[in-house]
Amino acid sequence: MSEVGSLYIISAPSGAGKTSLVAALLAQVPQLKLSVSHTTRAPRPGEQDGVNYHFVSQEDFQNLIAQTGFLEHAQVFDHFYGTSKAWVLEQLQQGQDVILEIDWQGARQVRQAYPQAVGIFILPPSKAALQERLQNRAQDSDEVIQKRMTQAVDEMSHYPEYDYVIINDDFQQALTELTSVLQARRLRLQVQAQKQAALLSSLVVS
Ligand code: GDP
Ligand code: ADP
Ligand code: 5GP
Repeated sequence: MSEVGSLYIISAPSGAGKTSLVAALLAQVPQLKLSVSHTTRAPRPGEQDGVNYHFVSQEDFQNLIAQTGFLEHAQVFDHFYGTSKAWVLEQLQQGQDVILEIDWQGARQVRQAYPQAVGIFILPPSKAALQERLQNRAQDSDEVIQKRMTQAVDEMSHYPEYDYVIINDDFQQALTELTSVLQARRLRLQVQAQKQAALLSSLVVS
Protein backbone atom coordinates (compact mmCIF):
# COMPACT_ATOMS: atom_id res chain seq x y z
CA MET A 1 0.00 0.00 0.00
CA SER A 2 1.37 3.41 -0.85
CA GLU A 3 1.99 5.85 1.94
CA VAL A 4 -0.95 7.99 3.04
CA GLY A 5 -0.35 11.44 4.56
CA SER A 6 -1.46 12.59 8.00
CA LEU A 7 -4.22 15.09 8.55
CA TYR A 8 -3.69 17.83 11.18
CA ILE A 9 -6.40 20.06 12.56
CA ILE A 10 -5.19 23.32 14.09
CA SER A 11 -7.64 25.44 16.05
CA ALA A 12 -7.20 28.55 18.17
CA PRO A 13 -9.15 31.65 19.07
CA SER A 14 -8.78 34.40 16.52
CA GLY A 15 -5.53 36.26 17.26
CA ALA A 16 -3.73 33.42 19.09
CA GLY A 17 -1.21 33.23 16.26
CA LYS A 18 -2.22 30.14 14.34
CA THR A 19 -1.86 31.71 10.89
CA SER A 20 1.64 33.05 11.72
CA LEU A 21 2.72 29.73 13.26
CA VAL A 22 1.38 27.68 10.37
CA ALA A 23 3.08 29.95 7.80
CA ALA A 24 6.42 29.51 9.62
CA LEU A 25 5.84 25.76 9.89
CA LEU A 26 5.15 25.40 6.16
CA ALA A 27 8.37 27.27 5.38
CA GLN A 28 10.47 24.70 7.21
CA VAL A 29 8.70 21.34 6.94
CA PRO A 30 8.65 19.50 3.58
CA GLN A 31 5.71 17.44 2.26
CA LEU A 32 3.24 19.53 4.20
CA LYS A 33 0.38 21.51 2.68
CA LEU A 34 -2.20 23.91 4.02
CA SER A 35 -5.81 23.54 2.97
CA VAL A 36 -7.16 26.83 1.62
CA SER A 37 -10.68 27.19 3.00
CA HIS A 38 -13.69 28.67 1.27
CA THR A 39 -15.25 31.62 3.07
CA THR A 40 -18.06 34.11 2.60
CA ARG A 41 -16.21 36.80 4.57
CA ALA A 42 -14.65 39.73 2.69
CA PRO A 43 -10.89 39.69 2.11
CA ARG A 44 -8.77 41.68 4.60
CA PRO A 45 -6.23 44.13 3.18
CA GLY A 46 -3.47 42.07 1.58
CA GLU A 47 -5.43 38.81 1.50
CA GLN A 48 -5.49 37.12 -1.89
CA ASP A 49 -8.17 34.92 -3.39
CA GLY A 50 -6.92 31.35 -3.70
CA VAL A 51 -4.00 32.00 -1.33
CA ASN A 52 -5.48 32.94 2.06
CA TYR A 53 -8.99 31.75 1.24
CA HIS A 54 -11.21 31.03 -1.72
CA PHE A 55 -13.53 34.02 -1.28
CA VAL A 56 -17.00 33.04 -2.47
CA SER A 57 -20.57 34.37 -2.40
CA GLN A 58 -23.26 32.96 -0.09
CA GLU A 59 -24.83 31.37 -3.14
CA ASP A 60 -21.63 29.62 -4.27
CA PHE A 61 -21.12 28.41 -0.71
CA GLN A 62 -24.63 26.92 -0.53
CA ASN A 63 -24.05 25.20 -3.88
CA LEU A 64 -20.85 23.63 -2.58
CA ILE A 65 -22.74 22.33 0.47
CA ALA A 66 -25.44 20.86 -1.79
CA GLN A 67 -22.80 19.13 -3.94
CA THR A 68 -21.19 17.74 -0.72
CA GLY A 69 -18.00 19.45 -1.77
CA PHE A 70 -17.00 20.08 1.85
CA LEU A 71 -15.22 17.77 4.30
CA GLU A 72 -16.67 20.12 6.94
CA HIS A 73 -18.28 23.51 7.06
CA ALA A 74 -19.34 25.85 9.83
CA GLN A 75 -20.55 29.32 10.63
CA VAL A 76 -17.90 31.27 12.56
CA PHE A 77 -18.69 34.83 13.65
CA ASP A 78 -21.03 36.07 10.91
CA HIS A 79 -19.51 34.10 8.07
CA PHE A 80 -19.40 30.63 6.59
CA TYR A 81 -16.18 28.66 6.28
CA GLY A 82 -15.61 25.27 4.66
CA THR A 83 -12.86 22.80 3.74
CA SER A 84 -12.69 21.27 0.25
CA LYS A 85 -13.14 17.51 0.54
CA ALA A 86 -11.69 16.54 -2.85
CA TRP A 87 -8.51 18.58 -2.45
CA VAL A 88 -7.74 17.27 1.06
CA LEU A 89 -8.34 13.60 0.20
CA GLU A 90 -6.26 13.90 -2.97
CA GLN A 91 -3.29 15.34 -1.07
CA LEU A 92 -3.46 12.62 1.59
CA GLN A 93 -3.60 9.92 -1.10
CA GLN A 94 -0.47 11.42 -2.64
CA GLY A 95 1.34 11.03 0.69
CA GLN A 96 1.29 14.72 1.59
CA ASP A 97 0.55 15.78 5.16
CA VAL A 98 -2.26 18.34 5.28
CA ILE A 99 -3.06 21.09 7.79
CA LEU A 100 -6.58 22.40 8.33
CA GLU A 101 -6.82 25.76 10.14
CA ILE A 102 -10.41 25.45 11.25
CA ASP A 103 -12.66 26.15 14.22
CA TRP A 104 -13.83 23.61 16.84
CA GLN A 105 -17.16 22.92 15.10
CA GLY A 106 -15.36 21.97 11.89
CA ALA A 107 -12.83 19.93 13.90
CA ARG A 108 -15.65 17.78 15.30
CA GLN A 109 -16.97 17.07 11.80
CA VAL A 110 -13.50 16.16 10.53
CA ARG A 111 -12.91 13.73 13.43
CA GLN A 112 -16.20 12.02 12.60
CA ALA A 113 -15.27 11.62 8.94
CA TYR A 114 -11.57 10.98 9.55
CA PRO A 115 -10.81 9.70 13.08
CA GLN A 116 -7.06 9.45 12.43
CA ALA A 117 -6.84 13.26 12.23
CA VAL A 118 -4.49 14.81 14.81
CA GLY A 119 -5.86 17.82 16.70
CA ILE A 120 -3.64 20.67 17.91
CA PHE A 121 -5.01 23.60 19.90
CA ILE A 122 -3.08 26.87 20.16
CA LEU A 123 -3.70 29.16 23.13
CA PRO A 124 -2.48 32.68 23.92
CA PRO A 125 -0.51 33.26 27.18
CA SER A 126 -3.37 35.43 28.56
CA LYS A 127 -6.63 37.11 27.55
CA ALA A 128 -4.86 40.49 27.65
CA ALA A 129 -2.20 39.24 25.19
CA LEU A 130 -4.92 37.98 22.87
CA GLN A 131 -6.66 41.35 22.82
CA GLU A 132 -3.35 43.13 22.26
CA ARG A 133 -2.50 40.88 19.29
CA LEU A 134 -5.88 41.45 17.68
CA GLN A 135 -5.36 45.20 18.08
CA ASN A 136 -1.75 45.09 16.83
CA ARG A 137 -2.72 43.08 13.79
CA ALA A 138 -4.80 46.16 12.97
CA GLN A 139 -6.93 44.41 10.39
CA ASP A 140 -10.29 44.35 12.10
CA SER A 141 -12.49 47.17 13.39
CA ASP A 142 -12.90 47.74 17.17
CA GLU A 143 -16.37 46.25 16.95
CA VAL A 144 -15.09 43.11 15.20
CA ILE A 145 -12.24 42.80 17.74
CA GLN A 146 -14.72 42.99 20.65
CA LYS A 147 -16.87 40.32 19.04
CA ARG A 148 -13.86 38.07 18.46
CA MET A 149 -12.74 38.53 22.10
CA THR A 150 -16.15 37.45 23.35
CA GLN A 151 -16.10 34.40 21.08
CA ALA A 152 -12.51 33.60 22.00
CA VAL A 153 -13.57 32.38 25.43
CA ASP A 154 -16.09 30.04 23.85
CA GLU A 155 -13.56 28.76 21.29
CA MET A 156 -10.90 28.25 23.98
CA SER A 157 -13.24 26.16 26.12
CA HIS A 158 -12.91 23.40 23.50
CA TYR A 159 -9.19 22.75 24.00
CA PRO A 160 -9.86 19.39 25.81
CA GLU A 161 -11.15 17.95 22.51
CA TYR A 162 -7.64 18.11 20.99
CA ASP A 163 -4.61 15.78 21.23
CA TYR A 164 -1.99 18.51 21.73
CA VAL A 165 -2.08 21.95 23.37
CA ILE A 166 0.52 24.63 22.58
CA ILE A 167 0.78 27.99 24.37
CA ASN A 168 1.97 30.66 21.94
CA ASP A 169 3.85 32.97 24.32
CA ASP A 170 7.34 33.00 22.85
CA PHE A 171 6.79 32.56 19.09
CA GLN A 172 9.99 30.57 18.41
CA GLN A 173 9.29 28.19 21.25
CA ALA A 174 5.72 27.61 20.09
CA LEU A 175 7.03 26.98 16.57
CA THR A 176 9.57 24.44 17.87
CA GLU A 177 6.80 22.68 19.80
CA LEU A 178 4.51 22.59 16.79
CA THR A 179 7.32 21.24 14.59
CA SER A 180 8.07 18.58 17.25
CA VAL A 181 4.51 17.29 17.12
CA LEU A 182 4.75 16.78 13.36
CA GLN A 183 8.21 15.23 13.55
CA ALA A 184 7.14 12.78 16.25
CA ARG A 185 4.05 11.77 14.26
CA ARG A 186 6.25 11.08 11.26
CA LEU A 187 8.39 8.67 13.29
CA ARG A 188 5.51 6.44 14.35
CA LEU A 189 6.00 2.75 13.53
CA GLN A 190 2.93 2.76 11.29
CA VAL A 191 4.35 5.59 9.16
CA GLN A 192 7.97 4.40 9.16
CA ALA A 193 6.92 0.85 8.25
CA GLN A 194 5.54 2.23 4.97
CA LYS A 195 8.12 4.92 4.31
CA GLN A 196 11.19 2.82 5.15
CA ALA A 197 9.81 -0.55 4.01
CA ALA A 198 12.83 -1.48 1.89
CA LEU A 199 15.42 -0.53 4.52
CA LEU A 200 13.52 -2.21 7.35
CA SER A 201 13.18 -5.50 5.51
CA SER A 202 16.84 -5.43 4.41
CA LEU A 203 18.00 -4.89 7.99
CA VAL A 204 16.20 -7.85 9.46
CA VAL A 205 17.26 -10.52 6.98
CA SER A 206 20.38 -12.33 8.02
P1 GDP B 1 -8.26 34.47 12.22
O1 GDP B 1 -8.39 33.20 12.94
O2 GDP B 1 -8.36 35.68 13.09
O3 GDP B 1 -7.09 34.54 11.29
O4 GDP B 1 -9.54 34.59 11.33
P2 GDP B 1 -10.03 33.82 10.03
O5 GDP B 1 -11.07 34.67 9.40
O6 GDP B 1 -8.89 33.41 9.19
O7 GDP B 1 -10.75 32.54 10.57
C1 GDP B 1 -11.98 32.63 11.27
C2 GDP B 1 -12.42 31.31 11.88
O8 GDP B 1 -12.80 30.43 10.91
C3 GDP B 1 -11.33 30.56 12.70
O9 GDP B 1 -11.90 30.05 13.87
C4 GDP B 1 -10.90 29.45 11.80
O10 GDP B 1 -10.37 28.39 12.54
C5 GDP B 1 -12.17 29.17 11.10
N1 GDP B 1 -11.95 28.57 9.83
C6 GDP B 1 -11.14 28.93 8.83
N2 GDP B 1 -11.23 28.10 7.81
C7 GDP B 1 -12.13 27.18 8.17
C8 GDP B 1 -12.67 26.03 7.51
O11 GDP B 1 -12.36 25.67 6.38
N3 GDP B 1 -13.59 25.33 8.17
C9 GDP B 1 -13.98 25.67 9.39
N4 GDP B 1 -14.86 24.89 9.97
N5 GDP B 1 -13.52 26.72 10.04
C10 GDP B 1 -12.59 27.47 9.44
P1 ADP C 1 -4.73 33.92 14.12
O1 ADP C 1 -4.48 33.35 12.78
O2 ADP C 1 -4.80 32.88 15.19
O3 ADP C 1 -5.91 34.85 14.18
P2 ADP C 1 -2.34 35.57 13.66
O4 ADP C 1 -1.29 34.59 13.21
O5 ADP C 1 -2.97 36.47 12.66
O6 ADP C 1 -3.47 34.81 14.53
O7 ADP C 1 -1.66 36.41 14.84
C1 ADP C 1 -2.35 37.51 15.44
C2 ADP C 1 -1.32 38.63 15.69
O8 ADP C 1 -0.46 38.25 16.77
C3 ADP C 1 -0.43 38.91 14.48
O9 ADP C 1 -0.24 40.31 14.38
C4 ADP C 1 0.86 38.18 14.83
O10 ADP C 1 1.98 38.81 14.23
C5 ADP C 1 0.91 38.29 16.36
N1 ADP C 1 1.59 37.17 17.05
C6 ADP C 1 1.54 35.85 16.75
N2 ADP C 1 2.26 35.11 17.63
C7 ADP C 1 2.80 36.00 18.53
C8 ADP C 1 3.65 35.87 19.69
N3 ADP C 1 4.11 34.67 20.13
N4 ADP C 1 4.00 36.99 20.35
C9 ADP C 1 3.53 38.19 19.93
N5 ADP C 1 2.73 38.41 18.86
C10 ADP C 1 2.36 37.32 18.15
P1 5GP D 1 -10.86 34.85 10.01
O1 5GP D 1 -12.15 35.37 9.51
O2 5GP D 1 -10.26 35.70 11.09
O3 5GP D 1 -9.91 34.55 8.88
O4 5GP D 1 -11.20 33.42 10.68
C1 5GP D 1 -12.04 33.30 11.79
C2 5GP D 1 -12.10 31.87 12.25
O5 5GP D 1 -12.63 30.98 11.24
C3 5GP D 1 -10.78 31.29 12.65
O6 5GP D 1 -10.92 30.80 13.96
C4 5GP D 1 -10.54 30.19 11.66
O7 5GP D 1 -9.85 29.11 12.25
C5 5GP D 1 -11.95 29.77 11.24
N1 5GP D 1 -11.95 29.16 9.94
C6 5GP D 1 -11.27 29.54 8.87
N2 5GP D 1 -11.48 28.71 7.85
C7 5GP D 1 -12.32 27.75 8.30
C8 5GP D 1 -12.89 26.59 7.68
O8 5GP D 1 -12.68 26.25 6.53
N3 5GP D 1 -13.71 25.85 8.46
C9 5GP D 1 -13.96 26.19 9.75
N4 5GP D 1 -14.76 25.38 10.42
N5 5GP D 1 -13.45 27.25 10.35
C10 5GP D 1 -12.63 28.03 9.64
